[in-house]
Amino acid sequence: MAGRRALIVLAHPEKTSFNHAMAEAAASTLRDEGWDVTISDLYALGFNPVLSRRDITGPPKNPEHFIYETEMGLAWKEGRLSSDIVAEQKKIEAADLIIFQFPLQWLGMPAILKGWFDRVIIQGFAYSMATIYEQGCFQKKKAMLSFTTSGMESMYTPRGINGDMNVFLWPMQRGMLQFCGFQVLAPQICYSVRYVAPEARAQMLSAWRRRLAAIWEEKPLGFIPNSCFELSVAGGFVLKQEVLAQQEEQRQGLTVGQHLGKAFPPDEQLKAPQ
Ligand SMILES: Cc1cc2nc3c(=O)[nH]c(=O)nc-3n(C[C@H](O)[C@H](O)[C@H](O)COP(=O)(O)OP(=O)(O)OC[C@H]3O[C@@H](n4cnc5c(N)ncnc54)[C@H](O)[C@@H]3O)c2cc1C
Repeated sequence: MAGRRALIVLAHPEKTSFNHAMAEAAASTLRDEGWDVTISDLYALGFNPVLSRRDITGPPKNPEHFIYETEMGLAWKEGRLSSDIVAEQKKIEAADLIIFQFPLQWLGMPAILKGWFDRVIIQGFAYSMATIYEQGCFQKKKAMLSFTTSGMESMYTPRGINGDMNVFLWPMQRGMLQFCGFQVLAPQICYSVRYVAPEARAQMLSAWRRRLAAIWEEKPLGFIPNSCFELSVAGGFVLKQEVLAQQEEQRQGLTVGQHLGKAFPPDEQLKAPQ
């Protein structure tokens, strides 16, 4: 993989954590495979996750009614973003593959990582209304979530007490990553890391290393192409009538999001289509 570049965005405060071990395993395996690897350790950087008008330099376009997305888009175009945001954007631009490594917190990503998305993945740099989903700015790049949980795998199934993991993955994988065009690889999930036996954790790390050795060849998760939607305000950005007609007889919905009031296709956010 000589010439390929990976960025690992790590969101865990403790160096002795299993999340750090996963990030280190990823970095060393990818480097052994010839990748150039950068780690953005958000806690070590002291990354500020709180968006505000201080994210731009110079006078805002409309100080009376500051609209964050508009002002950030303009500041990006004019080179007036704060330096910590620009530094992260340069790392993204350079990367072919981005791995987000974090502990699941409140069924989502930690606040520091969510804030990284809020402040770094901004309009203009990452998306515009004309370039969303598979036409998004990062369509040549691959991205994936790698996270740990306290809860057991069974708790994250359709009959589990926390609910179906596919549901929690949808906002992050479809709403954040694929929205910006990333080809989204299947997530790497280490369930119940603190409560399993040491041998099980060793196996998690070795499975991760084995997967990473051939990660670039993996097929991404499947999402419905933009061409299946009415892509205009007048059309409402909904599935076209002919697509709906084709789905009428199907017992399952298309995706977790476009479920059409039917059962979700099993594990569609967890596994790439064969
Ligand atoms: C605010 C908050 C909200 C949360 N919400 C949720 C939630 O919604 N759902 C949920 O399931 N969980 C939730 N959690 C729990 C959280 O997801 C887990 O605490 C986290 O995933 C554990 O990962 P860790 O890296 O901190 O593990 P650690 O506790 O750091 O590590 C686990 C074990 O791995 C060992 N270890 C470290 N390095 C290695 C290595 N190299 N090789 C082998 N073993 C190693 C450690 O010694 C330890 O025994 C929440 C936690 C917080 C703080």
